[in-house]
Amino acid sequence: MSNFFRTKIEFLKGIGPQRATLLQTELQIFTYGDLIQHYPFRYLDRTQFYKIADLDEGLPFVQVKGFVKSKELLGEGRKQRLSVVLQDTTGELELVWFKGVKFMQTQLQKGLEYVVFGKPTVFNSRLNMAHPEVEAVSEIKAEQSFLQPVYNTTEKLKNHRVDSKAIGRIMAELLKLAQPQIKETLPFSLLDRYRMISKAEAMQNIHFPVSIEKFNAARFRLKFEELFYVQLKLLRQKTVRKADLKGQVFRQVPTLTEFYNNHLSFDLTNAQKRVIKEIYKDLGTGKQMNRLLQGDVGSGKTIVAFIAMLIAHDNGAQACLMAPTEILADQHYVGLKPYADKLGIVIGKLTGSTKQSDRKVLHEQLQSGEMSIIVGTHALLEDVVKFKNLGLCIIDEQHRFGVAQRSKLWQKNPRFIPHVLVMTATPIPRTLAMTLYGDLDVSVIDELPAGRKEIITVHRYDSHRLRVFGFMREQIKLGRQIYIVYPLIEESETMDYKDLMDGYESVQRAFPEYRISMVHGKMKPQDKDFEMQRFVKNETQIMVATTVIEVGVNVPNASVMIIESAERFGLSQLHQLRGRVGRGAEQSYCILMTSYKLSKESKVRLETMVRTNNGFEIADIDLKLRGPGDLMGTQQSGVLDLLIADLAKDAKILQESRAAAQEILEIDPELALPEHENIKQHIQSLQANTVNWSRIS
Ligand code: ADP
Ligand code: MG
Repeated sequence: MSNFFRTKIEFLKGIGPQRATLLQTELQIFTYGDLIQHYPFRYLDRTQFYKIADLDEGLPFVQVKGFVKSKELLGEGRKQRLSVVLQDTTGELELVWFKGVKFMQTQLQKGLEYVVFGKPTVFNSRLNMAHPEVEAVSEIKAEQSFLQPVYNTTEKLKNHRVDSKAIGRIMAELLKLAQPQIKETLPFSLLDRYRMISKAEAMQNIHFPVSIEKFNAARFRLKFEELFYVQLKLLRQKTVRKADLKGQVFRQVPTLTEFYNNHLSFDLTNAQKRVIKEIYKDLGTGKQMNRLLQGDVGSGKTIVAFIAMLIAHDNGAQACLMAPTEILADQHYVGLKPYADKLGIVIGKLTGSTKQSDRKVLHEQLQSGEMSIIVGTHALLEDVVKFKNLGLCIIDEQHRFGVAQRSKLWQKNPRFIPHVLVMTATPIPRTLAMTLYGDLDVSVIDELPAGRKEIITVHRYDSHRLRVFGFMREQIKLGRQIYIVYPLIEESETMDYKDLMDGYESVQRAFPEYRISMVHGKMKPQDKDFEMQRFVKNETQIMVATTVIEVGVNVPNASVMIIESAERFGLSQLHQLRGRVGRGAEQSYCILMTSYKLSKESKVRLETMVRTNNGFEIADIDLKLRGPGDLMGTQQSGVLDLLIADLAKDAKILQESRAAAQEILEIDPELALPEHENIKQHIQSLQANTVNWSRIS
């Protein structure tokens, strides 16, 4: 961006210091560059009008064209209002104003034709529109674009007469000045290949489209550019990292072969095999691996982790598997120990509750290299834990660990940064993964082991609770165990706590013959673990809990998941919770309990859960419902501050722009070729802008 775009907005005709301050504080618009990128959030189609007779209350904002038949001031003083009757060939519509009454009265002329934009509502069983936008047809200039931009603004700005229209006027002014200054930011080869219009033409047409074709072309071009630069940045980070970080080379696999041939009690799924190949390939390159493994709950990530750890062992290195909770670490350890024993590999477990005397032994075994595999919690991060040669770190359930913690693991091998495999059961749609983890390689297990029974999911209203209790009783008689989960948005919310307690008591009353565990966030970790363990050991039949049980817990005998106030959970979270059942051979069930009062969006979530068990499909729908900002684990990610592209909708453009970025970096990693000069410059100006931003906010 040239210096022109760094000009402060107050220098623009029609702005001045007061409005400039407002635009800064209200919309974070400081410079010409900020302003020109304040894209319209929607457009009024000047060619589309509703007939008055076709209006009804269910419609959103609509546009009507008609003549003013009458206008009249009604009421007194503060209750005064202006009532105007607009007429077209099909009927009449009342327009009302409660504010700016006098002004509007002089503006609107009887007998003239107007275009009116507003939301039809019913008042006193008559259709009307309150405070619509109006414009005299005679004043709409021929050259005025047929798609009229509508800009985001705020109440405060509007009070200072900076409404959408005013922003439009300012924008027109700016565009006139800016046109000769707008530089092309994409290489000609790309413009040519994707038949994209120039940046200058795109900027003009995103604000004031001259035709629908040009408008679409402008949108495509600007979205492409935005995503292209995000991807370029991520891909360059990745290349830099790969070039810099050497990793140990692991190629030998004797123990793995023995394990595979003699001890693995089931066939790996094709997806597991593919992922293992991807990991093995990474480990042999001499570069440090940084891989994200996504797999739905129950897809069998643990065995993949174990196999990766065997590869490390086979090449004289050690491996650690870090879980977010003690109970998960326990489960991993209990599951893997028998395998390790058969293979003659020393495996250990280190958590917060490991006894001091045991710790000493563990520390020694790790430092001497005698122990090959260690499973644990954050306790692994402590400085006293030293390895002879840590070669591979596996992190289960990635979003519970921060970047800082991950880097602590890295420091445990001064010679080679360990290879890293991050495992998550939170399925992230591919488009999002590409953007969020563009700097990681992504592997996906998209297949469940054969013979798994689909979990049957149903939605029941609270009024059917007695029947649900009856079903629970049947299942317990069959020997199964049951989870009942209550929402807990904030662990401190006393109301949620009360819900949980009330629930616990009513379950106790309903099932006096059975034993019940309860786990929630206010409990001490030891107490929580103790209660969990009772359930794991089948000493209790029912587990009443908050979402603390969400992550990874494996109780194959638990076959029923009841989610209370299910409408209060996000879709991905519901899916995570459901994944706690369906881990054994028995048919499992998930029952979503709600009241009758459901929002439209809650209904979509519940229907989706009932319809599908596919985590990726669910993640996609979740993304569409909520937008990327709310998805698990994405909150801190700055890459999602997109101005025009939409990750939920622009998957195809994202893919194309990523491929384009990849291709360019392959040919010209340093962006040194003359035809890529403008890319390089644009990156620099983007970076300059980022610095600005961080200084301001
Ligand atoms: P997750 O991906 O949720 O961590 P786990 O690794 O805990 O899943 O696996 C769930 C269960 O499936 C475990 O009991 C595991 O032994 C079993 N499992 C894993 N892979 C297979 C397979 N290919 N065939 C049959 N069972 C498998
Ligand atoms: Mg797991």
